[in-house]
Amino acid sequence: MIKEHRRITIMNCKRCHHVAQIHESAMNSSSLMKLGRCAIPGCTCRQYVDSIEKLDEELL
Ligand SMILES: [Zn+2]
Ligand SMILES: [Zn+2]
Repeated sequence: MIKEHRRITIMNCKRCHHVAQIHESAMNSSSLMKLGRCAIPGCTCRQYVDSIEKLDEELL
């Protein structure tokens, strides 16, 4: 029997702690997920904040 191991990464916004998926996509976002404001009613989060640390990819 083969058991399927599917890794589902659920990341929450570091600012408002809502899931990343509920944040609206924004191409100008500075987050790795390219996500902008949170769609949860009443939530004041305007920019998704990655819960993982940013990788230093810009190092020469
Ligand atoms: Zn939120
Ligand atoms: Zn948020």
